[in-house]
Amino acid sequence: MTHVLLPPDLRHAAERAKGFMPPNEGAALFDTACAYGALGPICEIGTYCGKSAIYLGAAARETGSVVFTVDHHRGSEEIQPGWAHHDPTLMDPRFGKMDSLPFFRAAIASAGLEDNVIAIVGRSETVARYWRTPLAMLFIDGGHSEDPVTKDYEGWAPHLMPGGALVFHDIYPDPSTGGQAPYRVFQRAVASGDYKEVSTEGSLRVLERVAADA
Ligand code: SAH
Ligand code: MG
Repeated sequence: MTHVLLPPDLRHAAERAKGFMPPNEGAALFDTACAYGALGPICEIGTYCGKSAIYLGAAARETGSVVFTVDHHRGSEEIQPGWAHHDPTLMDPRFGKMDSLPFFRAAIASAGLEDNVIAIVGRSETVARYWRTPLAMLFIDGGHSEDPVTKDYEGWAPHLMPGGALVFHDIYPDPSTGGQAPYRVFQRAVASGDYKEVSTEGSLRVLERVAADA
């Protein structure tokens, strides 16, 4: 496969956006989405302000795919007021809640990716319950504590097509470097035997779903 480069304007748009995706992991996310995007749609759990969605959307544009990105936009437990990664500029005083949706919209519009990245606003587990379309790539980066990351895996991974990519973010095997819930769910996916390990970049882990008869 010829190696597609992330267009510089989109790389800059991604680096400008608020979020939690270092450039090297964003580039790996883009490469993965380029490798799988032609098979079908890409789904992201955990949009926040659209940073990772720009990397995915850039690859969707290259491969003729589309990105659905799911978030209630009210913030995970670990980014609420009082937590280290809380951004007070995201508070909506009308409701006393966080709202990352306007930041997402601005980021995707300024990247020129509105045709490639589609926001689904709601709870991941509710959307998963009604989802029916097989996915070429699933990127799990929503709530990072035990309950949400488990529900994201259980609700969404069954929709991955054979040969599709299951990608986790924030995988920290060493407990001193980060939370363990995503790592435990990642290990569970590996232990299921349904996936083979494809690549690693920073805290990003790429698995590929093996065909049922493989
Ligand atoms: N991918 C983003 C970061 C996502 S942060 C980036 O690259 O910057 C995690 C996001 O998951 C938050 O925006 C939070 O609102 C969302 N989230 C957490 N639990 C959720 C749930 N149960 N349903 C939908 N979204 C959820
Ligand atoms: Mg993350």
